[in-house]
Amino acid sequence: MAYRVTLIPGDGIGPEVVGAARRVLEATGVAFEWDEQVAGMAAFEATGDPLPPPVLDAIARTRLALKGPLATPVGGGFRSANVRLRQHFDLYANVRPAETLPNTNTPFRGLDLVLYRENTEGLYAGIEYFDERNQIADSIARVTRRGSERIVRFAFEDARRRGRRRITLVHKANILKAAGRMFLDIGREIAKDYPDIAFDDRIVDNMAMQLVIHPQDYDCLVTTNLFGDILSDLMAGLVGGLGVTGSANVGDDCAIFEAVHGSAPDIAGKGIANPTAVIRAGEMLLRHVGEAEAAEAVRRALHDVYAEGTRLTADLGGTASTDAFADHLAARVERQMSKVEG
Ligand code: NAD
Repeated sequence: MAYRVTLIPGDGIGPEVVGAARRVLEATGVAFEWDEQVAGMAAFEATGDPLPPPVLDAIARTRLALKGPLATPVGGGFRSANVRLRQHFDLYANVRPAETLPNTNTPFRGLDLVLYRENTEGLYAGIEYFDERNQIADSIARVTRRGSERIVRFAFEDARRRGRRRITLVHKANILKAAGRMFLDIGREIAKDYPDIAFDDRIVDNMAMQLVIHPQDYDCLVTTNLFGDILSDLMAGLVGGLGVTGSANVGDDCAIFEAVHGSAPDIAGKGIANPTAVIRAGEMLLRHVGEAEAAEAVRRALHDVYAEGTRLTADLGGTASTDAFADHLAARVERQMSKVEG
């Protein structure tokens, strides 16, 4: 059986890194039926909408997507297509692992953190007002009991599946007496259902400092939308930068996998982008559909190629092109899979 997956190359470096990830995923031997769709700037220029109906229809059919970055104009212009996608398909859990690979520029070896970010509400709920006359801007952080319960429960269930030992809830309940307090209280309530997983909490500013000083003391984090957005990029920085970390946006019956990074307009079209982040997103997609052996083959091949260090991309001090890296990795994945089958 082939897995039907909507493939969105996206903007900037998107087509380069998504093409590379597709080759690596196909090297596992798992069969995919790709439904390729145009979203982002090209779709906006052609239709006036960065997320036109055929893209939404395709994801509604396949319930699985691998997507490249979609550019969002800063300030004015259209609303983020990424935020719209997450809200449209109710992809309430954003899972962002940060695992150290060999030969990456980081003082921390052996890091293996997972951040669970609430993905549909908080400060990104889209409740915004601008009072032109008085020059007052309001962006409301809406946190609901339902939204908080489902992300915290998702985090505990996923952590348990991964054999994790501890979840730290990150908040700002000392200042945000309404939204922060409720999120923390719900975390404490739900933690009682998971006695096998230790639970504690940290205030977000302290958490940022702790992660920079001794990240190895942490395991899994769960937090609201904005804090998760910022801390997950910080975590990407701890393991070698935006080029190496993937993410999953997961709902009850739909999931979209993507890199943590954006469209990187400064290097787009040069063939030098690091495709690892989308490849790691592909690895998450494989695990999500139950292809654990193939996912593990991709993970091991990545570790091997990084340990060799001869085919790294420019962001990691190497000289390999996106394609050279992907071809080398794909060959390693094929070898890993033949070991599994042999
Ligand atoms: P960015 O992630 O695109 O780039 C930040 C820096 O990291 C740049 O110097 C870039 O060259 C580098 N970089 C990023 N990915 C890399 C890779 N794979 N290999 C090597 N270097 C890489 O962040 P930005 O410049 O703030 O955003 C650019 C656009 O991307 C914006 O329009 C933003 O809205 C969008 N964006 C989209 C997503 C998404 O689709 N999920 C996420 C973040 C940003």
